[in-house]
Amino acid sequence: MSEPTVENVVIIGTGCAGLTAAIYTARANLNPLVLEGSQPGGQLTTTSEVENFPGFPEGVDGFMLMDNLRKQASKFGTRFQQALVTEVDFTSSPRKLISGDKTILAHSVIIATGASPRMTGIPGEKELFGGKGVTTCATCDGAFYRNMDVAVIGGGDSAAEEALFLTRFCSKVYLVHRRDELRASKIMADRVLAHEKIEMVWDSVPVAVEGVDDDAVSGLRIRNVKTDAESVLPIKGLFVAIGHIPNTGPFAPPLETDENGYFKPADGSQVQTNIPGVYVAGDCADHVYRQAITAAGMGCQAAIEAERWLADQE
Ligand code: NAP
Repeated sequence: MSEPTVENVVIIGTGCAGLTAAIYTARANLNPLVLEGSQPGGQLTTTSEVENFPGFPEGVDGFMLMDNLRKQASKFGTRFQQALVTEVDFTSSPRKLISGDKTILAHSVIIATGASPRMTGIPGEKELFGGKGVTTCATCDGAFYRNMDVAVIGGGDSAAEEALFLTRFCSKVYLVHRRDELRASKIMADRVLAHEKIEMVWDSVPVAVEGVDDDAVSGLRIRNVKTDAESVLPIKGLFVAIGHIPNTGPFAPPLETDENGYFKPADGSQVQTNIPGVYVAGDCADHVYRQAITAAGMGCQAAIEAERWLADQE
């Protein structure tokens, strides 16, 4: 019987972190295998214009940026495989990654699984998610709400970006925020506050999405946290943009996480985990910066660390 293949390095995730790790490990002749899950390209594929990725003075389309990273990784020999890892065994050497009835063996592993949108959990949100009016992606779904009134929940850069993008299609965009000051960067906040189609709804939390009986969003019930008064915004679309939850899935445990649920790198490193040869990169391990460029930087660090570790094992 032939020996099972043992990969030098398996990279899990195809966002900025995963694909940058792929470019670096491929150029180091490590012949990386990248496992891609349910959202190839990661969060940037659902964003519109990326204005702050260095090297693009005119901005760059998020989908195009990811497509280019993928082409660049492929050019140096990266292999891609569709696989959702459901179980791991990091006690064995090589490490084992289990996906359905398949087991992938790897000397080193880079986990770059990103983060998923956080939801509010209010009644109606789950029932009306998807084609029924509740969504987390203006770029994907904004055009369905042409000439309609919609609401965005959140006060960070994501919410600001979603609201501004939606002004291209919608008649009116309510931006519902639980405080009286935006968390978004000043440049984004200024654009939001100056936009004639955006109406700020300050100090308000969502209570329920209305329209469940009709299978379509008809309003957002909100409560003013200062007065306790409830009211309903008459909207057809609801865009939830209140941050993200790290995708640590089947990896934690055994990998350690911090109090916010993000992978916690070992002392003195940003990417090394508590398991030798296993690295983390990008939004699954970073709740501070969470930028495309910092994710790419962590992917690069993880790749270089994996390369050095593999060389030490020889
Ligand atoms: P974020 O900065 O964590 O903001 C989340 C927002 O949602 C906050 O305003 C928060 O309110 C609110 N929120 C959280 N939980 C809530 C709940 N249960 N109900 C109601 N509101 C809730 O997340 P983000 O906007 O996704 O941004 C994440 C990171 O990506 C940031 O570093 C951001 O700068 C970056 N980013 C950058 C760009 C860009 O530069 N183009 C675009 C998008 C994101 P509080 O303010 O009261 O906490």
